[in-house]
Amino acid sequence: MASAKRTARVSQTSLHRIFTVAEAPDSTLGLIEQEMSQNLAGFLNNHIVASKNALTDIEKDFVNPFIPEQPEFVSDHMHHLLDKLVAQSVHTASPSFIGHMTSALPSFILPLSKLMVGLNQNLVKVETSKAFTPLERQVLGMMHNLVYQEGEGFYQEWMHSAQHSLGAFCSGGTVANITALWVARNKLLKADVHFKGISRAGLFSALQYYGYQGLAVLVSERGHYSLKKSADILGIGQDSVIAIETDEHNKIDCQKLAQKCQELSAQNIKVLAIVGVAGTTETGNIDPLDKMAHIAKQYQCHFHVDAAWGGATLLSYKYRGLLAGIEKADSVTIDAHKQMYVPMGAGVVLFKDPSSVADIEHHAEYILRKGSKDLGSHTLEGSRPGMAMLVYASLHIISRPGYELLINQAIEKAEYFAELINQHDDFELITEPELCLLTYRYVPKSVQRILANSDEESQYAINLLLGKLTKFIQKRQREAGRSFVSRTRIKVERYNDEKIIVFRVVLANPLTSKENLQDILAEQCVLAQESENFLPQLLSKT
Ligand SMILES: *Cc1c(COP(=O)(O)O)cnc(C)c1O
Repeated sequence: MASAKRTARVSQTSLHRIFTVAEAPDSTLGLIEQEMSQNLAGFLNNHIVASKNALTDIEKDFVNPFIPEQPEFVSDHMHHLLDKLVAQSVHTASPSFIGHMTSALPSFILPLSKLMVGLNQNLVKVETSKAFTPLERQVLGMMHNLVYQEGEGFYQEWMHSAQHSLGAFCSGGTVANITALWVARNKLLKADVHFKGISRAGLFSALQYYGYQGLAVLVSERGHYSLKKSADILGIGQDSVIAIETDEHNKIDCQKLAQKCQELSAQNIKVLAIVGVAGTTETGNIDPLDKMAHIAKQYQCHFHVDAAWGGATLLSYKYRGLLAGIEKADSVTIDAHKQMYVPMGAGVVLFKDPSSVADIEHHAEYILRKGSKDLGSHTLEGSRPGMAMLVYASLHIISRPGYELLINQAIEKAEYFAELINQHDDFELITEPELCLLTYRYVPKSVQRILANSDEESQYAINLLLGKLTKFIQKRQREAGRSFVSRTRIKVERYNDEKIIVFRVVLANPLTSKENLQDILAEQCVLAQESENFLPQLLSKT
């Protein structure tokens, strides 16, 4: 391998070659491409090693701050990447990786992504995207229709209108949520004959002009942290995102929500938006959207639904009823890169009213001219890739019934896993799956008995130890590299609303089998025995 090493040189010719000559099929990159296109799962299995290296060790490979003066041949560099990067990355496509919302992708995605990158369209303006602009508008129309079902005439009227938009395509749920609240803010504090509007005058003048003491965003305590980021960026302040308590099913308590609206209104603090969550990140539950819509209407505030993760459930006729009321939302966030099996970088925010974007419109002289169909005039992001093509293709290739099958199976698999946990002597199901997400923990049967008969104080002490045990098992399992579940800390009603450390499972991968799930529990039982410190302590409580 290392014999007669050639040295790469920078020259006019070598640079020209980089842009014009393809990698030979038998070069390292050529072989990687071939292996990936023939069998991506096999490629990932072969090249991602279940390395036990700690991140701090891996960091040692990435410490040099100097941009190389010496060029490398592509093949030489590929060896470096495979060894230092690919080998030590995370096998998110593995059927036993059930800890997060990132999963395996359909096989057509890889060549399509290559086409997308090859075309290198920029969706900020028509001049660099042409057909990609109407394509993106159509995808927004399809997603809008999925939520609002406005009828054909509506879509014909607004889908391609220059001054309107059914939504905005974004890099993900975070930007989608920011965009939704941006629209809500600018609409609330808009311009009139005496005032230039917040967009030009800023928040301070806007609050003075409208006579508000402040703004607030109300969401359940299970709301995603991106809402706090949004409030921070929009000048409302993180503390103005007010967490409303949830009930025993992790759904917002609507009585408390209405009460808070009343309270704020008495203090002259305007509720900018009420945010419903359709599929909370930690427990996968859906807020009572219909009731929330009613409260939002009563207090005349923007109603946003964060369905970043759960929104894809609308593709299932069987389960879309779980999101009833979503069609009353002024805006809705859906991530295609979660349950729609599109790679990362694909989120949408949809607006019930196609003229909503008027309040965030921006223009420039060289692009985004008034009346142009440039998508960039009402997106937060500037240059953007043609990701909409991947959503478009997936919707065509998989189709609505195909998605329905994927979604139904995921939910039913979660129900199966919950049953498995319930039937097992040494596990405790913490939150039941409403969609394909659940939480649980390892609790030996004997400890379960003690817990049930303990007072609040002893329960607290036992749960503290169980928390350490859960953490131990989760870390060990991740390090062993055969499988992965995540962990989080949630308030549990049956333990006096104590915060409990739990395993969190998202059944996103269609290839995850019942056997995979059984193996994960079996492995956790074995790992629990290795915890010398906690298990004997727990058991000695008997
Ligand atoms: C994932 C998620 C987000 C954030 O989306 P990104 O795509 O990670 O930016 C926001 N809200 C909810 C409910 C989510 O599940």
